[in-house]
Amino acid sequence: THFGYESVPTAEKQKRVAGVFTSVAGSYDIMNDLMSFGVHRIWKRFAIDLAGVRPGERVLDVAGGTGDLTREFARLAGPRGQVILTDINAAMLNEGRRALADRGVVGVPLVQANAEKLPFAEASFDCITISFGLRNVTDKDAALRSMKRCLKPGGRLLVLEFSKPQSELLGKVYDQYSFRLLPLMGQLVARDADSYRYLAESIRMHPDQETLKGMMQDAGLSRVQVYNMTGGIVAVHRGFRL
Ligand code: SAM
Repeated sequence: THFGYESVPTAEKQKRVAGVFTSVAGSYDIMNDLMSFGVHRIWKRFAIDLAGVRPGERVLDVAGGTGDLTREFARLAGPRGQVILTDINAAMLNEGRRALADRGVVGVPLVQANAEKLPFAEASFDCITISFGLRNVTDKDAALRSMKRCLKPGGRLLVLEFSKPQSELLGKVYDQYSFRLLPLMGQLVARDADSYRYLAESIRMHPDQETLKGMMQDAGLSRVQVYNMTGGIVAVHRGFRL
């Protein structure tokens, strides 16, 4: 691989991820729009619809960042429901707090926590989501088990994440984009090419559709289904705790 992030030891990876998100927190929302040409909004909308949150439900948004999913869930769960945003990074949580307040979303607790060891009671949520977060987690199997543990029986987990382009041509175009254009945009807009290089590398290293499906099944999730978007550049995996 291009930048050698694959052999980074655990503590080192965690520090690097923390550095990346502390560095990008302030420009996070604008970079998302730029880098995805606004399409991340459509990917998120699809995942939100698939989550099917109903009034009164308890929802946990893991690695919630600036709260794009959280605020929709808060609206859907309504006053009888409860939505919690959790993220490992204090700088991202601050951005999330601000973004939610700006949009008039109230009553959402923000909790600093590692997805690998969620500090919530067993079987306490109807729906858990992790959007563009799992690839940053060091021990993904532990995170999947931890999220499954917090689901009520019948509850669902949705993982929205970059995945593997389904055609070779699209894969090639996408590689050029992510390894050349992305760091350049990061440099120009956020004065931070390295963080966006990490981003491209973390996407490349992330398990593909079938592998992630298997990991979810191994974590004890059932009826796992994969929904590809934009030719497989992004996928939603949904599984249930039965
Ligand atoms: N969910 C938001 C979205 O879709 O826009 C934010 C995604 S952002 C690309 C990834 C987030 O994962 C960052 O806010 C980062 O702090 C968080 N993160 C990284 N490692 C984590 C971990 N081990 N546990 C929880 N959150 C983590």
